[in-house]
Amino acid sequence: MLRLLFQNLEQTLGPALSQVSLFFYYGGLTLLVFVALVPVWRVWIEDVTAGMGIERRWVMTCHNCGKLTIVAGRRCGICEWDLDIPVIVRLWTFFTGRGEGTVTRRLRWWIHLLGGVTFLLLSIWIVTSTEGLTPEGSLHRLFLGFAFVALAMFGWLAGRALRIGQQGVLARVGDAAMALTAIGAMAVALFLTDAVRHTKEVPLARFDTIANAARIGESVLPLPQGEIGFNYLQLDQENLGYHRIIALGFSGSERMPLQRNALKEQIIRHLRKHAAGYTARGLTVRLRTDRLQIVPGQSYEVIEREGQVLLRSVASR
Ligand SMILES: [Zn+2]
Repeated sequence: MLRLLFQNLEQTLGPALSQVSLFFYYGGLTLLVFVALVPVWRVWIEDVTAGMGIERRWVMTCHNCGKLTIVAGRRCGICEWDLDIPVIVRLWTFFTGRGEGTVTRRLRWWIHLLGGVTFLLLSIWIVTSTEGLTPEGSLHRLFLGFAFVALAMFGWLAGRALRIGQQGVLARVGDAAMALTAIGAMAVALFLTDAVRHTKEVPLARFDTIANAARIGESVLPLPQGEIGFNYLQLDQENLGYHRIIALGFSGSERMPLQRNALKEQIIRHLRKHAAGYTARGLTVRLRTDRLQIVPGQSYEVIEREGQVLLRSVASR
């Protein structure tokens, strides 16, 4: 039912949907790369600033000399005036404002980079396992885009929640909760992605029509009734959900088998000969012919979709 609704939506909205879907799809992919690269960027910036000797410190304006001084002790660094900072605040500035040692900084960098790589691998796995690089139709692409955006948001928020640094517990809990929401949104988007997926079509044969005849490859099949038949074997095993179509050939005023190798020929002959026996044991073997009234001067194709054979004009796709 969802599938039908989406098909209608896709047909009604058409080109507008296509543009929106492209925006979200490529936007989502770009965000994923960006989020994975954030740690690299941070480490690079920190490396440059640390190399130049830039440090993070608490500062205040001295009430005596009016200059900006680093809050390191109780006195102004310039005029030695007592800054009159309460003890508890001095303790706070001591623990939060001190510089970081080289070893701890390096360790922190490696952990951040490891986080970035982990997220990149997770993204690659999700994108490839959902076949996200080959969208089928604009609605499918749109939902894939939503999923990528949600995944990027998850990565960003999870990084904030887990990152090493001076950050309040409450802020981390908030980030973690939003990260969970993002991963939930991704799951919904992926579920919808599956529902809008176009069903797979397997091409079986194609032919062109001329007046009362069909050209199949190099040969011409006369069609005095203006009707072509496509012959095939249909195999069904209902319990296993096994459905298979084996194309045999075309028929008009005569039969024209499709080219096949000796092995396939053997299999087909065997299946036709023992069809009743197989059917009795649960594997239904049916020899079927689908007929289509043809219009001269057109191209047709025969495809298999969800275990069904479909003859259609290529132009009217
Ligand atoms: Zn001063």
